[in-house]
Amino acid sequence: MHESLPFEDSLASISTGDLPSLLEVEQHLHEAYGHYRYDDDGAVADYIPALAQADPSLFGASIVGAAGNVADVGDAAHPFSIQSVSKPFVFALVCDALGHEQVLDKVGVNGTGLPFNSVMAIELNQDRTMNPMVNAGAIATTSLIPGRSGEEKWEFLVDGLSRFAGRRLEVDDAVYASETATNLRNQGIAHLLDGYGRLYFDPDEATDVYTRQCSLLVTAHDLAVMGATLADGGINPITGEQAIEPRHCKRVLAVLATAGLYERSGEWLYEIGIPGKSGVSGGMVAIAPGKGAIGTFSPPLDDAGNSVRGQRLVKYLSERLGLNMFASKPIGLASPPAGTARRLA
Ligand code: GLU
Repeated sequence: MHESLPFEDSLASISTGDLPSLLEVEQHLHEAYGHYRYDDDGAVADYIPALAQADPSLFGASIVGAAGNVADVGDAAHPFSIQSVSKPFVFALVCDALGHEQVLDKVGVNGTGLPFNSVMAIELNQDRTMNPMVNAGAIATTSLIPGRSGEEKWEFLVDGLSRFAGRRLEVDDAVYASETATNLRNQGIAHLLDGYGRLYFDPDEATDVYTRQCSLLVTAHDLAVMGATLADGGINPITGEQAIEPRHCKRVLAVLATAGLYERSGEWLYEIGIPGKSGVSGGMVAIAPGKGAIGTFSPPLDDAGNSVRGQRLVKYLSERLGLNMFASKPIGLASPPAGTARRLA
């Protein structure tokens, strides 16, 4: 992530209120795709056996604007299991159903600074769960989904995530079976949380719903639509359907900023300046509030579990499209309103 980019930071990349025109967005997307298409750093995840079979050359990306404009490139329509990129959307559904105060109280929103499946993070922190973007907090969040049975919770969850995507999402049965057969660590985390009174449903069933949620098939295009829904006050910009109430979006994005890229979340925000979430199958979503979202898919990951090409492409686009939420232009460089003294640099 630290290699230099084919351009310097410049005032052209200052964040503005809107995305550039669709034509410009398409141009930059195709350029970025061309820059990183043949990068071959990183390795495909193999701790879930079914994921190890992914083709490392796959690479697709999509940008969906909050106004509904769409630009896709490469393998943007290739399906893959959503994995951890499901976490912000399930968190959003639980905020919507229970209120964000409940989630703050029952799960927490601070970064753990530790790997996504850390047991130490549970042991070292008095509150046990810290953040809905890492496995302990995510399984606790899934356990809070409304419903008396696992099946009811599942229906609620899949309906909600499908509203974000604007189409009915389906489970990849092979990935679900593969992870179910090997997810002893997540089962352990759920039981440990249950022991601490920080899980809100049967631990085995909560782990099962969580594993199914991670196995839902999406494309880079779907991730961009889902992200753009969070960028658009909870309204899916393609279907016009309301996925969640507007007031929750800013909190979901705030939590993403703390922990969306595992223990590299600080570096990500420092370089890219918008919240994002990655997952071990190689998917990523990056969200520019009020503007839109980028969805990417490329299976090779860095050592923290973030898609290598995905991060590079989003960094390139964040600069070119002026997405960085922290960027500002010195007032002295803008035309002063009539009658105001110009502040000189
Ligand atoms: N289902 C995966 C797990 O819980 C998701 C991990 C990820 O994408 O970070 O291990």
